[in-house]
Amino acid sequence: MTHPDFTPKASHFIDGAYVEDTSGALIEVIYPHTGAVIARLHSATPAIIEQALDAARRAQTAWAALSGVERGRVLRRAADLMRARNHALSVIETHDTGKPMSETLVADATSGADALEYFGGLAATLTGEHIPVPGGDFVYTRVEPLGVCVGIGAWNYPIQIASWKAAPALACGNAMVFKPSEMTPLSALQLAEILMEAGAPAGLFNVVQGYGDVGAALVVDPRVDKVSLTGSVPTGRKVYAAAAEGIRHVTMELGGKSPIVVFDDADLENAVSAAINGNFYSTGQICSNGTRVFVHEALYDQFVARVAERMAGAVIGDPMSQATTIGPMVSARQRDIVLGYIDKGLAEGARLVKGGQKIEGQGFYIEPTLFADVTDDMAIAREEIFGPVMSVLKFSSEDEAIRRANATEFGLAAGVFTNDLTRAHRVAAAFEAGTCYINAYNLTPVEAPFGGSKLSGVGRENSKAAIAHYSQVKTVYVGLGDTEAPF
Ligand code: NAD
Repeated sequence: MTHPDFTPKASHFIDGAYVEDTSGALIEVIYPHTGAVIARLHSATPAIIEQALDAARRAQTAWAALSGVERGRVLRRAADLMRARNHALSVIETHDTGKPMSETLVADATSGADALEYFGGLAATLTGEHIPVPGGDFVYTRVEPLGVCVGIGAWNYPIQIASWKAAPALACGNAMVFKPSEMTPLSALQLAEILMEAGAPAGLFNVVQGYGDVGAALVVDPRVDKVSLTGSVPTGRKVYAAAAEGIRHVTMELGGKSPIVVFDDADLENAVSAAINGNFYSTGQICSNGTRVFVHEALYDQFVARVAERMAGAVIGDPMSQATTIGPMVSARQRDIVLGYIDKGLAEGARLVKGGQKIEGQGFYIEPTLFADVTDDMAIAREEIFGPVMSVLKFSSEDEAIRRANATEFGLAAGVFTNDLTRAHRVAAAFEAGTCYINAYNLTPVEAPFGGSKLSGVGRENSKAAIAHYSQVKTVYVGLGDTEAPF
């Protein structure tokens, strides 16, 4: 099969232009549907990193001096351009990640555009406060940018992650150097082009490609004031520790092993739909997926049977076909990791209800997989799999469900399905997770904070809450009377 060549004009986008340095390590972009190489780029060399940070530093001061209305206008124009190019961006995203067009058309660039529009609108509202002090003096505060922010992305939502980081950072008057995942380097370059076309000054948003070593070099550079990472917990630990050396601000959007608790009074079809979306959307490669589905014993058999029945409706295959609902895994490596977990699930005694097989042929396909009779100690119930594997666990009482749902080192998301109003809120309050759902799952509107507790992260993306993570408050005390001293 032949593919269009997705190789961009050059690997990096710095100071308003594409930049290449072929001495950097080769990055081959693989189309997960076929395994074919569809683009070749190069990892950033120290000289490229230097250029990018230098450009960002230079651009930031003038950008921060603009009014919020002016900054917001650029972001809102970028949102419009992104929406206008949604189809082309979705084609890139589908080739980069393998996610089907039925998803990328509605969940990737569109969500990035929402972030640009939302933070574009907020930019003009970022004001400090006035604090009166007895005796006539007063204090006012200024909301100031941090300076240069580094964004580091994962491969599951490339343009969404880039936009969710760039939009609040730029709205607050910062500049950004963004490093996409080496697996999915293409769409962040499109965001850079869009921002330039929308009127962002050269150097404001730069993209450098690279493996982990490039991310690591960015994190410790003295010109960097903040690091926002979307990635796994092990990478988060390293990046957080490295950022601490310079007391840099951090946002950590890390992994999860989130619970969905389904009580016996829940609407069965809604709960099943949520479990399907929360385990199989993006072929299971979503950080906040509800991979531990706790179902009350009275509903348990019916629930498992219904999930299995509905799974038969999955359309697995060519991600460019709009009928497809399950694409390939992002890479052969990720597919093999997931197959390894399926083997562990079998070995540890979970009951395989459906799926579980590698799909032979081209591409990195795996069947959506349903395990029942999973117990809390099994690896598939404890570790993040990051693939299409749903584990269903049985519970008897509310207290037990809450205790077991919280018995994890992660705390990204959690969901409860019940028609008992007070129980719904009681359980949501008891969940140890940053983003909780009642009779819904995995929806992330830009107006709502998103982020994790426990090992799943630090800080929040989206919403007004993100502003606090891309700005700092300066306190100005104003004395109106005489200044007194003891001698
Ligand atoms: P990863 O941790 O392997 O890589 C993430 C990014 O960090 C990549 O760009 C990588 O090159 C870079 N990196 C690796 N080592 C580094 C280092 N030492 N210093 C600086 N940067 C380094 O994650 P992944 O496999 O790309 O993504 C999957 C993970 O991301 C899952 O754990 C998933 O849960 C998580 N994730 C979280 C969210 C969220 O919002 N919480 C969203 C999507 C994905």
